[in-house]
Amino acid sequence: MALYALDSEGVVSADEAPDRGQYWCLECNSPVQVRQGQRRRHFYHVKTSPSCRLYSKSEDHLLLQLEIKNLFAKEEIHLERPFVSIGRLADACWERCKIVFEIQCSQLSASEARSRIHDYASVGYSVVWLLDDRLFNRRILRPGELQLRQHLCYYVKFRRTTRSFFYDQFEVFQGNRRLKRGSRLSVQLPAPRQMPRSLPDRLPQQILNRIHHSRLFFQGDLIHKALLSQRVRPLAIAMQNWRFIEDSTPQDPTPTLWQSWRKRVFIEPLCRLFEYFLDSIESDR
Ligand SMILES: [Zn+2]
Repeated sequence: MALYALDSEGVVSADEAPDRGQYWCLECNSPVQVRQGQRRRHFYHVKTSPSCRLYSKSEDHLLLQLEIKNLFAKEEIHLERPFVSIGRLADACWERCKIVFEIQCSQLSASEARSRIHDYASVGYSVVWLLDDRLFNRRILRPGELQLRQHLCYYVKFRRTTRSFFYDQFEVFQGNRRLKRGSRLSVQLPAPRQMPRSLPDRLPQQILNRIHHSRLFFQGDLIHKALLSQRVRPLAIAMQNWRFIEDSTPQDPTPTLWQSWRKRVFIEPLCRLFEYFLDSIESDR
């Protein structure tokens, strides 16, 4: 699904496209048609096109794109903005600050994440990842999630009826498991800041990783909290605590063949089942 497509004159929005026009996908160029979805008018592919990223986009994904656009002043954000030289189509692009917002509601391989970050960096843009927490931020990490969290990467709690919630959090991993997570810290996407030259000593490793990979941070995120910890005592204590938890969490030694087989066949499916039950309890509330 997509919010924009090409017609004979150029790019057209689904809101303005008449029902019976001829349209083509911005990414794969195959024919698309316009329709009123359950919550949003959009273009859809006439034929299957699994390699096209727009083909697999859900309506929730489109709604999140529009929410991001609405967080900013009019005309600041361009949705589905093509980057022809690198063959990419950004979910939402903030030209003035050279930031691309990538919403992730589906699985993503670590190599695809790396190449997207690299491609946008090659044309001078930073990528901010927004991971849908119905799929990500679970006890078992998704492929690529660990790497992404070391970059500019936040979670989003999607809400149909009110505004969705973009957040960061402290967390500790062991192998591909999330052992511990802190409370959700609201992140203000329209308030990016440049990374300062000097930062407090002995920060948790998760913050140092982020600093290493990025030139920016956002109001409300972990790096912002680290800076505030120079003045706010409870935050300084929180920094020490997270550092302590990280230091006292041994990372998995290399598993034997039997251990990794047991983990794949028994433990991980059980964890997923447990997670599924927890989710269904949560959604029943
Ligand atoms: Zn397409």
